[in-house]
Formats: sequence, structure tokens, C-alpha cells
Amino acid sequence: MEQEELKKHFGDKIFKQISETADKLGLECYVVGGYVRDIFLNRPSKDIDVVVVGSGIKMAETLGKHLGRGAKVSVFKNFGTAQVKYHDTEVEFVGARKESYSHDSRKPVVEDGTLEDDQNRRDFTINALAVCLNSARFGELVDPFGGVDDLKEKVIRTPLDPDITFSDDPLRMMRCIRFATQLNFFIEDETFAAISRNKERINIISRERIADELNKILLSSRPSIGFVLLDQCGLLELIFPEFAAMQGVETKNGHAHKDNFYHTLEVVDNISAKTDNLWLRWAALLHDIGKPSTKRWEPRIGWTFHNHNFIGERMIPNIFRKMKLPMNEKMKYVQKLVGLHMRPIVLAEDIVTDSAVRRLLFDAGDDIDDLMMLCEADITSKNQARKQKFLDNFRLVRQKLKDLEEKDRIRNFQPPVSGEEIMEVFGLQPCREIGTLKTSIKDAILDGVIPNEYEAAYNFMMEKAAKMGLKPVNN
Ligand code: ATP
Repeated sequence: MEQEELKKHFGDKIFKQISETADKLGLECYVVGGYVRDIFLNRPSKDIDVVVVGSGIKMAETLGKHLGRGAKVSVFKNFGTAQVKYHDTEVEFVGARKESYSHDSRKPVVEDGTLEDDQNRRDFTINALAVCLNSARFGELVDPFGGVDDLKEKVIRTPLDPDITFSDDPLRMMRCIRFATQLNFFIEDETFAAISRNKERINIISRERIADELNKILLSSRPSIGFVLLDQCGLLELIFPEFAAMQGVETKNGHAHKDNFYHTLEVVDNISAKTDNLWLRWAALLHDIGKPSTKRWEPRIGWTFHNHNFIGERMIPNIFRKMKLPMNEKMKYVQKLVGLHMRPIVLAEDIVTDSAVRRLLFDAGDDIDDLMMLCEADITSKNQARKQKFLDNFRLVRQKLKDLEEKDRIRNFQPPVSGEEIMEVFGLQPCREIGTLKTSIKDAILDGVIPNEYEAAYNFMMEKAAKMGLKPVNN
């Protein structure tokens, strides 16, 4: 891109104001990093990072005055940075710096530096591009490491020796794989080999930061790219051993089971084409996580994974705790989907009865559509006829779900006769019989014996109670 062409991307008023302020203060000033990279990639980018050769804080404060009302300046003295918010735009200012690292921390010792020092400390050549904002050189690209060529060739590489770059700040290994996934870029061989060599260094990175990068990988359009790379360099085993354990195919008497790792990645890619819901994508990633520990060879049956859905559901809190993922309703949602993920498949293999569909609707509640999406993504059979059979049956299940929901309103089922009413009618204190009555009313509705209505449920309760030897108090 020529300078004239590049200039056009800095036409917003804010850049002109920064330029004037920098000239006035006599400070060199550059837009750096992701914002410049994304111009070349034609991607929308919101955060603007500006490096000032000198004080970033002074620059931000002066700009704030220059912009007047409507500008909000926040100074972070400890970090030597400042942020200017102006209407919808956020600009981060930092002084150019030189960094040196010690072995046990990713926090460097920082000193003032030149633009060159600042570009040297960047993680990848594609993130080390700078565009000058001073009026005499406005729109001039400073690209010391061939970042623009790497963007064209879709290559990720570190500006300096990759062993040092990754060892200094091992989070960069996760960022490298994350960018390769988001941008669908190739990681240059030496850079990738250095990740393998330095993988153990990941242990100095906080779990929160690792989870943050994993979530970004999972939110990409094809998350499988990232997980395959994490596996190939050996990081996966260190940060997510339960998932790495899904790998491999065992054969017995000529019978092989499918590779659950690659199957899962296909499911994750399938679901990512349909939804941006991060937690539904997590459910896809974890849906078979119980398989390695439930795998058995049964002579007359072959490979089995009995109850892997329930075992998987139970493994999730531990995985979320270790990975510092939220232990809240998001986790419960993932657990629920993992626990239920076999149900629609079992239904689709068999004759689809109203009763089974009602029970599914009752158990899944409002998450039924997400569950169906997960199950459809789970069909990865290469046998077209088999695949079609499942898809057709799922369509039938969906239609039945719709019909029954309209008719019976099971989705957010509330029993038509409450426990209190049962206690009152039969003069009971809290006891087991109340639970038995409630369950039998629920079962009768779900099995289609009675409609989901008060009168029918009341009459059913009276019949059932009489058989149990219970008598209403008013008679
Ligand atoms: P995205 O917003 O998609 O995460 P980005 O490149 O803008 O992409 P930021 O995390 O905002 O990512 O970082 C801004 C810039 O700071 C990067 O482009 C890079 O130059 C630099 N940078 C960020 N993190 C690191 C790091 N760990 N090591 C070296 N440089 C980094």
C-alpha cells in the first residue's frame, strides 16, 4: 500500500488532532500494532494504540485539552499509559519502551526507548507495524521486519529470535496460535518449532489469560485450526490434558473406534458455522469428554462408551475450576447440554414417540433448540445415507417438539397441582407420599396419559391417592 493510499485510513479528525498535538510538543508519534495490521487485512478494528517517543501521558493530556469537551482522559501512572475517549473512539497512548525480562515472570523491566526498541518488543512481525502521525511524515509506514510481506503471505513469525520472544513472555505462544486461527495464517516453521521447545514456560502464565486465549480460539470461525496446532506443539497436553486424552484410535479384532479428538473438532467447527454462542461451542468441545474414561471393549458388542455423557457432565466443574472458567449458570448450561446430548440421537435412531419427545422437552427446557443444534453438529458420519437418515429423523423430532410444545406447553413445565395443594387436600405434613404423587402426575402428563391441565391432573391425583390409601380431609 502506498503512503497516499495508507493516509486515507487516517482521515478521521482524531488523527489530525493527534498529529497537531505531537508536532506542537515536538514528539514523534506512531499508530502501532493491531490497528495498522487490520488496515492491511481489511478488518474492522476499534482500539487505536499510539506510541509516543517521549511521554505518552503528557501527549494524552495535551490532546485532551486540544479536543476540549467531549474528550475524557484517563491516566494510568503505574503503567505509564493514558487513554483518551472521544465520542466512539478510544485511543491508548504509551511512551516507546525497551523491555528486559527475568526468567520467572512475564513482567519485564521497562525503560524509555526508541521506536525501534518498541517494535523489537512486539510479539509478531504483523503486529510490529507503525504508521507515523507527525505532519512531515504523516502516513509513512515503518516496517522493519517485513510485516507487510508476512501479511500478504499469511505468515506469522516473531521479529527477533523466537526462542527469546516466547521464553520472555510465554503468553505469546497462545497468542501466536490464536492469531493463526483467527486469521487462518501459517505459523513459520522456526517460530512453531520454538513454541514446541518453550512449551513448558506456559506454566508461568495465569490460567485466566490462557482461558482468555482459548475462548478467542473457540470464537474463531474454524476453532479446529487452533486446537490442532495446540496439540502439535505439545501445549494442549499442558493446558487441557482432558482434551488431549481424547486422541488416538485403538483397534481390537479388526474393530477401530473413531478418533474422538478429531471427531470433536469437526463437531466444534460444525456448530461454529451456526452459532456465536461461546458456551454452546464449549458444550460441543466437551460433549464427548467422558469418552476416554468410559471406553471398554466388550467382546460381543465392540467398543462402548457407556454413560460417557453423564461422566462428562460430572467432569465439567473440575475442568472449569482448573481453567478458571466461570463456575456459574454458564457452566451449568454446558453441563446440561453435555448430559443430554445423547437423547435426541437415541430418539432419532428409534421410532419417535410423543412421550419421549415430551420428556426431552421437559428436561431441556429453554435450551432445547441449542441441544438440537449440538446434536445436528454431532453427525459427522461420512456415510451419506446414514447421515441423511439422522438428519431426516431430527427434522421429525423438531416438528414433534414444535407440535407438542404448542399443545402441551411442556418447555417450562410447572406441575398443575402443587405440593402445597396435595398437603392441604389430604391433610399431610411434608412426607414422601407428596413426592410420589407429584412425580406420578408429571409422568402421566409427559407420557400423554392426561393433558397438561389442572382438572385432569386433580382427578388423576385423587385416583392415584385412593390407590395409595390416602383420603381427602374434607370427605
Ligand atoms: P486483538 O485486539 O485481536 O487481540 P491486537 O493485536 O490489537 O489484536 P492487543 O492485545 O490489543 O492485540 O495488543 C496490541 C498490540 O500490542 C499487538 O498488536 C502487539 O503489537 C502488542 N502486544 C500485545 N500483547 C503482546 C505480547 N504479549 N507481547 C508482545 N507484544 C504484544
